[in-house]
Amino acid sequence: RQLRSQVACRGDIETWNASFLAIYESLIPAEEEKAKQKQLLTLLERVVCKEWPEARLFLYGSCANSFGFPKSDLDVCLTIDDAEINKSDVLLRLADMLQSENLQNVQALTRARVPIVKLMDPTTGISCDICVNNVLAVVNTKLLRDYAQIDTRLRQLAFLVKHWAKSRGVNETYQGTLSSYAYVLMCIHFLQHRRPAILPCLQGMKPTYSITVDDVDCSYFDQVENLLGFGSHNREGIAQLVWGFFNYWAYRHDYANDVISVRTGTILSKRAKDWTRRIGNDRHLICIEDPFEISHDLGRVVDKRSIRVLREEFERAAEIIQHDPNPCVKLFEPY
Ligand code: ATP
Ligand code: MG
Repeated sequence: RQLRSQVACRGDIETWNASFLAIYESLIPAEEEKAKQKQLLTLLERVVCKEWPEARLFLYGSCANSFGFPKSDLDVCLTIDDAEINKSDVLLRLADMLQSENLQNVQALTRARVPIVKLMDPTTGISCDICVNNVLAVVNTKLLRDYAQIDTRLRQLAFLVKHWAKSRGVNETYQGTLSSYAYVLMCIHFLQHRRPAILPCLQGMKPTYSITVDDVDCSYFDQVENLLGFGSHNREGIAQLVWGFFNYWAYRHDYANDVISVRTGTILSKRAKDWTRRIGNDRHLICIEDPFEISHDLGRVVDKRSIRVLREEFERAAEIIQHDPNPCVKLFEPY
């Protein structure tokens, strides 16, 4: 309503919706990219199967969660059902085997936080990271993909927020800003909280999917084809939602006390989670609870300097949408 009255003086909200949708559509990867990804995955499966016949490969991250941009890397998880395996040994052996295929820049990074093999496939031009037994990432990828099927406005909003974050340089975890995964969770949480709600809380419903990974219970309602009309009582368009999202993170979120939680579909208190003080490097200056690893704050990478950068960027975005006659240009201006 506030945006409507603002926009009334400046033009037509439908024009804004159309401009945002045009940007969203320009960011959707072409179908042929999927085919190339499949081709590379098939090659990898053939190689892996020679050494570990029981092993399986799963895609995770932006190539599988429906929030991928064109030319994203392929994130692959190799699962081996054997508690005894040594991840470094597996990665080193895998790198050896891949080296003898027609693949380039094969490198095993066994000391990384998440150890991986990196490679580039010259046939498809796709770069790929392979990790071992990182099943939680595969499951949280499925959760995001399932949410995306319920209402297309999630995919629209998350694409625009990711595009904004990449353009403005605030999608760099090693510089203390947030991961794409964190931004998508922020979008889901925001849409769970619109009135009427645009998204349900899948983990608050009777589970139809259930798996335990590393002692973490990952169950939720995944029959999302039964929820397709869920958000239809809310008629807000994408311009209204982009405005609401930035307005929330600029002016309404209580950074001192609140934790956003997609798992419960509510706001939790930092006090209840014992996230009120700095422990090690975790400062909890912006708190985003992981839906499964609930002791894990996706805002933990944010420090005293980067929280300022982030909040200034949220405010800049909110101001542009509030006052600029043509917000789509300035909002995504490279920093
Ligand atoms: P981009 O388009 O920027 O590459 P992405 O969807 O691949 O986006 P990333 O933030 O690179 O997003 O994360 C890749 C995947 O790794 C996520 O989808 C998620 O499954 C997992 N992941 C990333 N960060 C975390 C984290 N801090 N905790 C748990 N899982 C994570
Ligand atoms: Mg990625």
